[in-house]
Amino acid sequence: MPRYKIKKNTREQRYSEAYDPKKHGISRSIIEAFLSCQQAADYRYRENLTPREEKFYFQEGTFLHSVDEKYYDQLIKKKPKSEDEAYQLCRSLLIKMEKAAIKQGALVTEKTNKLLLTAHQIMPSHKKYWFKKDKVVNWLGTEKDFRFPVLGGAYDFIGTYDRVYKAKSGRVGFYDGKYKQSWDANYLDGLELDLQAKTYALAIWKETGKVPSPAYFDLVRKPGWRIKKDETFTQFGERMAERVQEDQDKFFQRWKVIYQLQDMKNILQELEYYCEMFIDWFYRQKSMKNTTNCFGKYGTCSYIPICTHNDRTSFKTLT
Ligand code: SF4
Repeated sequence: MPRYKIKKNTREQRYSEAYDPKKHGISRSIIEAFLSCQQAADYRYRENLTPREEKFYFQEGTFLHSVDEKYYDQLIKKKPKSEDEAYQLCRSLLIKMEKAAIKQGALVTEKTNKLLLTAHQIMPSHKKYWFKKDKVVNWLGTEKDFRFPVLGGAYDFIGTYDRVYKAKSGRVGFYDGKYKQSWDANYLDGLELDLQAKTYALAIWKETGKVPSPAYFDLVRKPGWRIKKDETFTQFGERMAERVQEDQDKFFQRWKVIYQLQDMKNILQELEYYCEMFIDWFYRQKSMKNTTNCFGKYGTCSYIPICTHNDRTSFKTLT
C-alpha cells in the first residue's frame, strides 16, 4: 500500500519569483484566477506583476485560516486537556499573531479591528465547542503541501491541505475550514462542487491509492452585525461574544461529504480539463477581460489601474 506522506511547504518560493508552470506547477488558485478573469491571470502569471504593497495585511480568510493552522498544530503537540484549555490556547495564539502582525507593519484600520474582534469572539469559542471531538481525531497535520502529476506527467498539480486526519479504517480524510456570514441548503449541497476540496480529495486518492475518508467542511459563521452608534469596540466585542455563547449550534457546524471511487475519476477528469485549458491559454492564447469580476466579493481587483489607464507604478515585476 502506498505510504501517505506530507510534503514540505514551498509557498514562499512560489510567490517570490516569476511564474513557470513547469517549475511551480498548477494550483487551484491559479485555475480559479484564470477562470475568473483571464486578463488578471495574464498580469499575474504571464507578466508576473504583483502589487508593491499589500494594502491590507489582515486579509480575512487568510487570517482566520492561519489561526486554525496554528491552533491545530498546537492541539497535536500540546494536547490541551479541557475545553477551557482549548479556548485559552486559541486565544493566546490569536494575541501572539496579532502582535506579530502589527510589529511587521500591518495596517491597523477600523476594518482590521473588526476582523480581530470577530476572530477573538468566534475562533476560541469554535475550538471549545469542538474540543471533545477534535481531541480524538488522529491528526496527520495542517497546512501541508501536496503535489501530483497531471497532463501525462508534463506538469504537477500543487496545493495545501487545511487539515488531514487518519481514520480507524486506515484511510485518510480532511477538514476544510469555511468562514461565512450565513449558509443555506444550496450552499451546503454546493460544497461538493468546491474545487479546493476536490483537489484535496484527489491528492489523498493519488497518494494513498484509496478513496478519502469523509471530508468535513468546518463551517464557522461570522457575525455580520454592525457596531452601534456610541458603542466602543470592546462593547461591540462583548455583545458579539454573548450572541455566540447563546447560539453556538448556529455558529459552528460540520458538514460531511462522502466520496465514491467514481467521484475520484470524475474529479480527475474535470481537473485535467481545467489544466489543459490553462496551459493552452498560458502558452498560446490572448486574454479576455471579464469585467463582471472587477468588483469581486473580496474587494476591487488590484489590476484596475493597469486595465483602465495602463498605470503600472504600484506594481513590481517578479523575475
Ligand atoms: S480590472 Fe477587471 S477586467 Fe481588469 S484584470 Fe481586473 S477583473 Fe479583469
